[in-house]
Amino acid sequence: MERTFVMVKPDGVERRLVGEIIRRFENRGLRLVGLKLLQPGRALAEKHYAVHREKPFFQELVDFITGGPVVAMVWEGNQAILLVRNMMGALKPENAQPGTIRGDYTTDIQTNLVHGSDAPETAQSEIALWFKPEELL
Ligand code: ATP
Ligand code: MG
Repeated sequence: MERTFVMVKPDGVERRLVGEIIRRFENRGLRLVGLKLLQPGRALAEKHYAVHREKPFFQELVDFITGGPVVAMVWEGNQAILLVRNMMGALKPENAQPGTIRGDYTTDIQTNLVHGSDAPETAQSEIALWFKPEELL
């Protein structure tokens, strides 16, 4: 069993896609173990995307993620990290396949609706960054 951190980004909340995104993970058979709606502050957003600190799009990315409420979640299941990444679709719009969340709902590299942890180490640190242990059931 694996746990992964998933976030519906502000564009997904704004576009009323929270239910659709949750439905896909539930239908797949993943188990929801944590969920909250919050508007992240800059400190949290900068920590979450710290790996991208030197990238030219970093400030814009932090502005975007702090620009409205997000839905932070933890999902659990067999190979949950990879399954969620596959269901999200690729970062580059031209590579995001139909049937994936990004491939079905966005053409933009930044406003791409959903975040998912990309490896066991990042899943562990992101879950700890966004959730207290007692918030995971
Ligand atoms: P995420 O980490 O949000 O799950 P990802 O792992 O598919 O997405 P990353 O390379 O980690 O992609 O980029 C993190 C986020 O930064 C992207 O999801 C997107 O919102 C934004 N981003 C990435 N590359 C660019 C870019 N070239 N221009 C603008 N925004 C970008
Ligand atoms: Mg990433």
